[in-house]
Amino acid sequence: MNHFDAIVIGMGGVGSASLFHLARRGARVLGIDRFSAGHDRGSSHGQTRIIRQAYFEHASYVPLLQRAYQLWRELEEMVEESLYFPVGLLEVGPPQGVVVPGVLKAAREHNLEVETVDVAEIADRFPGFTVADGDHAIFEREAGYLRVEECVLAHLKAAAKYGAQQRFHETVVSWRCLGDGVEVSTDKATYSAGRLVIAAGAWANSLLRDLGHSLHVVRKHLHWYATSDQDYQQRDGAPTFFYEAAGGYFYGFPSRDNLGLKIAEHSGGELVADPLTVDRSVDPADQQRVETFLRTYLPQVTTTQMAHAVCLYTMSADEHFLLDHHPRHSQVAFAAGLSGHGFKFTSVLGEAMAQLILERRTDLPIDFLRLDRPTLR
Ligand SMILES: Cc1cc2nc3c(=O)[nH]c(=O)nc-3n(C[C@H](O)[C@H](O)[C@H](O)COP(=O)(O)OP(=O)(O)OC[C@H]3O[C@@H](n4cnc5c(N)ncnc54)[C@H](O)[C@@H]3O)c2cc1C
Repeated sequence: MNHFDAIVIGMGGVGSASLFHLARRGARVLGIDRFSAGHDRGSSHGQTRIIRQAYFEHASYVPLLQRAYQLWRELEEMVEESLYFPVGLLEVGPPQGVVVPGVLKAAREHNLEVETVDVAEIADRFPGFTVADGDHAIFEREAGYLRVEECVLAHLKAAAKYGAQQRFHETVVSWRCLGDGVEVSTDKATYSAGRLVIAAGAWANSLLRDLGHSLHVVRKHLHWYATSDQDYQQRDGAPTFFYEAAGGYFYGFPSRDNLGLKIAEHSGGELVADPLTVDRSVDPADQQRVETFLRTYLPQVTTTQMAHAVCLYTMSADEHFLLDHHPRHSQVAFAAGLSGHGFKFTSVLGEAMAQLILERRTDLPIDFLRLDRPTLR
């Protein structure tokens, strides 16, 4: 039988969570993905993702993050697996920059605990990390990281427990509305459903062409470097970190296994014409920027590269998510343009998608991310 209450296109970060929340609400639901479960071709791979609450990008995200934290904890209990590691986050930057004032503003507005670290104490508190003259440092203890592939797999596993059907290695070629339902055609079959969630990550443009919002995809590199130094080991208390540095925004994760410390540049990125054919080789210029950052701020890390991966950011015009009903089809909802900072939210975005299409509304505060929003300040 090819009829469902709801279909979810894409079973990556948002799609796997949407599938779970729909199935948990009793919907007969089908998820479709062109790749395998927990694959490394989109935006939800590479071992880890930072999760934090004092959100410098915009303080309006904080209530969503608070709900996301609860949902990650619930998911951990459901699948009996550790997904979230609260190792803390060290954020560094100029006092008049973007990160430090943004973190302090979000913390003030939402009464979050963050600690302004005396820069003279950095060497003692966070050995192995340095701060440039004049920069400030903030520590968010309740921050840390999520194991990214395991989170996707956990949502899929939990969704399956509630009866969700999942088809991998099947590509959606088109969808259309029929009456108050939808029809979805893939390279293998045609399905119908009452409702549709589109969570296609880097492929959103091709499935949401008529929205009039162009999203652009950029290539991002992840690098792992060997470090024998105990200063960068998770087991010895090293935190995740995010620097607003002179050369750009850089972030990373303590060494948790023999791959070593993971580091990447958040700013920049080359435009990708087709996410299916992206060049996945090391970019020497990117590598050089990252190694310059390491030499300056984390000087004990070696430059022996242990691993490298390419991942995709899907950028909206203002770098904030687009979450809404389709403007002409209320039976269709989408999450798109997560702009390189969406993974930590995927638990709550799945809940939002499920509510938007089953109840046609949500109490979750996502209005500031709707399609026709005013400019975010
Ligand atoms: C290098 C890197 C570092 C990041 N770091 C962080 C971080 O520290 N913290 C954070 O919160 N966020 C971070 N992000 C961002 C975050 O990972 C993404 O915003 C998030 O994973 C996007 O999820 P998604 O569901 O939109 O996309 P995806 O997880 O890529 O899912 C989209 C899915 O749709 C499927 N699909 C697409 N089109 C079709 C089709 N036609 N038919 C069938 N299936 C289809 C794809 O195969 C894919 O599985 C990072 C991203 C990258 C790339």
